[in-house]
Amino acid sequence: MVLATGNAGKAREIQAILGAGYEVLLQSALGVESVEETGLTFEENALLKARYASAATGLPALADDSGLEVDALQGAPGVRSARYAGADATDGQNVQRLLDAMAAVPDGHRQARFRCAVAWVRSADDPQPLLATGAWEGSIAHEPRGTLGFGYDPVFIDQESGCSAAEMPPGQKNRLSHRGQALRALVGMLAPWG
Ligand code: IMP
Repeated sequence: MVLATGNAGKAREIQAILGAGYEVLLQSALGVESVEETGLTFEENALLKARYASAATGLPALADDSGLEVDALQGAPGVRSARYAGADATDGQNVQRLLDAMAAVPDGHRQARFRCAVAWVRSADDPQPLLATGAWEGSIAHEPRGTLGFGYDPVFIDQESGCSAAEMPPGQKNRLSHRGQALRALVGMLAPWG
């Protein structure tokens, strides 16, 4: 299957979670550009990315759409997480904008969650796409912690362990994460298809 992402951090995690039983080809390696994410929800964006990648390659396609939802910011940055600090923002710029927006928010009011929707289609016009979701509860730190992972990981504190996502080895993050939850659910649905 083709994986509809140009985000290397996501691609690494998705291949690790799926394991060796699935052969995933990056759409960028097949010359497919990213499609504009015009959906209002993670589910809509995952599906439109999967359909686009399948149309461009003729292969079954898997797509992930994900982001961070912060209660004190009424759910922002949400589906705009990758573009929070501007169209071509770096992870560092997005993190800084988030910390600035949260500067006056006290402990106890900094709840947030990562959300992920994954979509799988057999073909571009598949009438029965498979969709699965996951959510990872936590809170926003006052400053970055840890060097692993990508995106908002250094400022996302896991509710259970108190560690930031960037302080966790990949295996631990994948067991807890929104993406791990969504992909494991999807793999359960894929199994009957062989
Ligand atoms: P999109 O799914 O391509 O729209 O981008 C999702 C954005 O959400 C990423 O660029 C990250 O900024 C953020 N994000 C999603 N999942 C994670 C994660 O596991 N860790 C850190 N940031 C994430």
